[in-house]
Amino acid sequence: MSPRKTGKAETFTRYPSSALIIYNGSTILHFLLGAFGIALSCAYWPRMGYGLGLIYFALSFVEMYVVMPLTVCPSCTYRRIKGALCVAGLNLLSARMAKERPKKDFPGRAEGIFCANNVYMASLMVPIAAMVAGMLFNFSLALLLVFLIVAGLLIFRFFVIFPKLACLHCKAKFACPQAGAMGVRGK
Ligand code: SF4
Repeated sequence: MSPRKTGKAETFTRYPSSALIIYNGSTILHFLLGAFGIALSCAYWPRMGYGLGLIYFALSFVEMYVVMPLTVCPSCTYRRIKGALCVAGLNLLSARMAKERPKKDFPGRAEGIFCANNVYMASLMVPIAAMVAGMLFNFSLALLLVFLIVAGLLIFRFFVIFPKLACLHCKAKFACPQAGAMGVRGK
């Protein structure tokens, strides 16, 4: 970990490994339990449910760990700093997959309906919507439990991971639209 003061909150050139574990652990858990929740939501058609859950997991995983490093990370600050490690570790993946792109392209992650930020948010929301629909048509305690855990992971992401763990200490926060939306730039 190499923290550096920027006036207010420290920004990290290398996030501590605990931050990477929390960020990636909660992301993978969200995708896995989300897929399971989608499967449970289709109790009348179990094969279709597990098929949809599998498709959801595959698409979400690829979006996070392949599409982001290919499309967003190449213009991120963390690609430019030698030895840097972002909160998700995606800068290292990106360095193996794609060439650096101009820093000015970075805010493009939030431009357009199908921009990376919207697709990322959709990957978190889709299972929640599916489970709400599933509970309306065929309620079960197992489904309710999975729903509460996934909803809890989403709330944790919005109220702890983004504003306190990730974006607050990010070196890209002055260029990143998500940090602007979280209101962490001045902190
Ligand atoms: S400010 Fe937040 S969303 Fe933006 S690059 Fe940094 S950690 Fe990622």
